[in-house]
Amino acid sequence: MRIGEIIQELELWAPPALQESYDNSGLIVGSRDWETDGVLVALDCLESVVDEAITKNIHLIVAHHPIVFGGLKRFNGSSYIERVVMKAIKHDVAIYAIHTNLDNVLWGVNAKIMELLGIQNHSILSPMKGALKKFQVYVPVASVASLEAAVFNAGGGKVSAYEECSFKTEGVGSFKGTEGTTPVIGKVGEREFVEEAKLEFIVPAFAQRAVEKAARTAHPYEEMAYEWLAVENVATQYGAGAVGELAQEMKFDAFLALVKKAFGTTIKYTPAVKETVKRVAVCGGSGSFLLGAAKGSGADVFITADYKYHQFFDADGSLSIFDVGHFESEQFTIDLIADRLSEKFPKFAVLKTEVNTNPIQYY
Ligand SMILES: [Zn+2]
Repeated sequence: MRIGEIIQELELWAPPALQESYDNSGLIVGSRDWETDGVLVALDCLESVVDEAITKNIHLIVAHHPIVFGGLKRFNGSSYIERVVMKAIKHDVAIYAIHTNLDNVLWGVNAKIMELLGIQNHSILSPMKGALKKFQVYVPVASVASLEAAVFNAGGGKVSAYEECSFKTEGVGSFKGTEGTTPVIGKVGEREFVEEAKLEFIVPAFAQRAVEKAARTAHPYEEMAYEWLAVENVATQYGAGAVGELAQEMKFDAFLALVKKAFGTTIKYTPAVKETVKRVAVCGGSGSFLLGAAKGSGADVFITADYKYHQFFDADGSLSIFDVGHFESEQFTIDLIADRLSEKFPKFAVLKTEVNTNPIQYY
């Protein structure tokens, strides 16, 4: 299969435009035109994972963490990052990273953690700002259906879990083409009046360009009349962290035991502020930046990783912080990605790495 086909599917699921500014998600090594007989999924793309891909004759690694974050100036193998890149290129192994864009969707990294803990109907803890736009376009009445179809196909007209959402009002549009124009309706130099419809759509910001391009292609006029508007709507599907409720309230100690078992690790935590746990906020990986949002959400517990000593004091009697470890909190992201690819490409070999890439050991 062409690597590009697999990437296209991943990017529909977790659009790369949703990644954080510091991130480097996307195709890091290789070409979309390369072919592969399988895909190897990992949390970290270490040299040992590239070796595994070579041994298994796989030419695409999909990893959560990008192996390259900053610029590389030399390729002489003096760092583990350079060695990974050199070896991957030498053996035609492509490396694709799906990192904070998979953190920032409702069905991503945190959804998997919620599933693991038996928390249903979770929502985004800190919705992304400016993630939605409004598109208004004016079109002759006869072209309404084709224009709507074009916008929907390009990812517009989505409101939470609803698709193909639009609003239409009809009226009369007017225009006069000047010299050099070729109006589809009317004559150059004469003002024309046409029965038109104004169509309105909510569009995810990452789909803005695609929607505009598709609308232009579908629109019959030489010049499309349209507006993009900023909206303040909360993007319920895009943003960091997640919050939800346990089906049944649990005693704090019982919940602690449940989390320990689920993640298979030791937990660093701040004491209970309540005897029971019902509402739980999570953020796979380094999530201390979401503490304010977790407190604001009314969570009893905030499960995340990479907490420093002084940051634990910030719990400050509002909730209990559980630090379960970075690798541990994200370990099920491998299943999340592999399951998605297996579902979309059922006849294709989707393998999970056999290498434990956690750099930390516990004594
Ligand atoms: Zn991470």
